[in-house]
Amino acid sequence: MTPKLFENMGLSREALKAVSDMGFEEATPIQSQCISLIMSGRDVIGQSQTGTGKTAAFGIPLLEKIAPADKHLQAVILCPTRELAIQTSEEFRKLLKYRDNIKVLPIYGGQPIDRQIQALKKGCQVIIGTPGRVMDHMSRRTLKMETVRFVVLDEADEMLDMGFRDDIETILSRISAERQTMLFSATMPGEILDLTKRYQHEPEYVTVIHKELTVPSIDQVYFDVKEKVKLDALCRLIDIENPGLALVFCNTKKLVDELVEQLQGRGYFAEGLHGDLKQPQRDLVMKKFRNRTLEILVATDVAARGLDVDDIDIVFNYDIPQDEEYYIHRIGRTGRAGKSGKAYSFVVGKEIYKLRDIMRLTKAKIERKKLPSLGDLEETKIRAFVDKIKDLVDDGHLTKYINIVEGMIGEDYSVLDIAAALMKNNLYDADSEEIDLESEPLYEPRFKVHKIYSEESKDVVRLFLTVGKKDKVNPNDIVGAIANETGVPGRIIGQIDIFDEFTFVDVPKGFAKEIITLMKNKKIKGKKINIERAKQRKGA
Ligand code: ADP
Ligand code: MG
Repeated sequence: MTPKLFENMGLSREALKAVSDMGFEEATPIQSQCISLIMSGRDVIGQSQTGTGKTAAFGIPLLEKIAPADKHLQAVILCPTRELAIQTSEEFRKLLKYRDNIKVLPIYGGQPIDRQIQALKKGCQVIIGTPGRVMDHMSRRTLKMETVRFVVLDEADEMLDMGFRDDIETILSRISAERQTMLFSATMPGEILDLTKRYQHEPEYVTVIHKELTVPSIDQVYFDVKEKVKLDALCRLIDIENPGLALVFCNTKKLVDELVEQLQGRGYFAEGLHGDLKQPQRDLVMKKFRNRTLEILVATDVAARGLDVDDIDIVFNYDIPQDEEYYIHRIGRTGRAGKSGKAYSFVVGKEIYKLRDIMRLTKAKIERKKLPSLGDLEETKIRAFVDKIKDLVDDGHLTKYINIVEGMIGEDYSVLDIAAALMKNNLYDADSEEIDLESEPLYEPRFKVHKIYSEESKDVVRLFLTVGKKDKVNPNDIVGAIANETGVPGRIIGQIDIFDEFTFVDVPKGFAKEIITLMKNKKIKGKKINIERAKQRKGA
């Protein structure tokens, strides 16, 4: 079907203006079908891949149906995580830009319940919440479900994966059967269809899953690799492509944790996202990802579901997904908002059959490529360096340095030799030998110690370690342990102050993050230590 214009859907002027302010030009396929169905009062099952606009598909018609004069709770939206509750309520606020008589409140675990109770007392017509917290408020009677007329189960598959089934059923059983019930999901396993049979009334099933199975602006490539070189291959591709944001998928939580540790060990700003993380940790990771203080997010399929981040440059399938639908969901995270994206998959041995299935079922064109060689990497580095030099020359302000060079010329060095030596000095590993990733893995830490040291040694960071005189440590133990575990040269470690229970150590700023990451939970003199940045005392 051709996408509809919002203008032809019988929406209010306020809604149309808000949608147009949000930059939506036409409805997405799922919206084109769901909006009018929901407006007409039907129960709906909506299935489409992540990023196809399901929130507005139910948000737009739902908000049109809320009676502004009625201050009771009218609609409940259940979603799997706090992250999504917040995202959805932000989208709702934008949809309500020209209407101030409808109050929406997100309700999720992790936020002080008293604050939510206060907010609920003030009255709101729409809540967006996680099932656990909604149950909690129901039992406290701070949420009264008797007046609810609309229910949405958003990301239903993920809610079931997270074990919310009983909570969802309890909540639904407390809401009047006269309600309108909408269910949205990226996948439709049997368990969900079972829910819809029991809790929906003659639902209309809208699915656009196969319409957008392949996204043309995504460059899809696979690499045949041996298991033991996967990590090196990933690092090399990241070094060459230099993505602002990369999303790496692994098939299990354990693999996510392992890969994150390995990447951090090599100096990448990587974090993991999976179902075992507590909400505050999850929030922190997401915040870093959004602020771009993170360059690589490693995730499981379920954990990454529903994340609304637009500018992921590359999606890596570190493991080939079990299911072709997952492949589509994964690669759909890049190439969004009209930008081009890349999807790189690693194939080990027999996984090629799985990949062939994926290609056949999704009609995706996934092209085989050879891993870039170290020579390619060198070339990229040289090109970047030469560009930087050209910029510096174009910028001018070089008098001070020109004087130095002139001095050297006076000592009979040629300009060409001087320039070449400077290049060699900067492209410090451009001389290393060609390593064939097919044969031997290569450990290549990303940050060369001498580089950070010379650039950033002026700024010192004070670290706090939970080991002290009581544990019979002396300064040599501290220096030795840090040098051994992290590989940084002992001489860069500055002042060490040992107290009874703890110790302060000064290290150059450029090393602090790595030292903290690498020393965490390691042992000094047989004692497992904690390490963090020392807190500044007030007034200090
Ligand atoms: P889903 O729930 O299907 O994963 P979202 O509702 O989170 O997708 O929408 C993904 C992104 O697409 C959001 O940034 C949203 O604002 C945007 N979006 C939704 N509908 C449209 C539209 N009609 N035109 C352009 N962008 C849209
Ligand atoms: Mg969604």
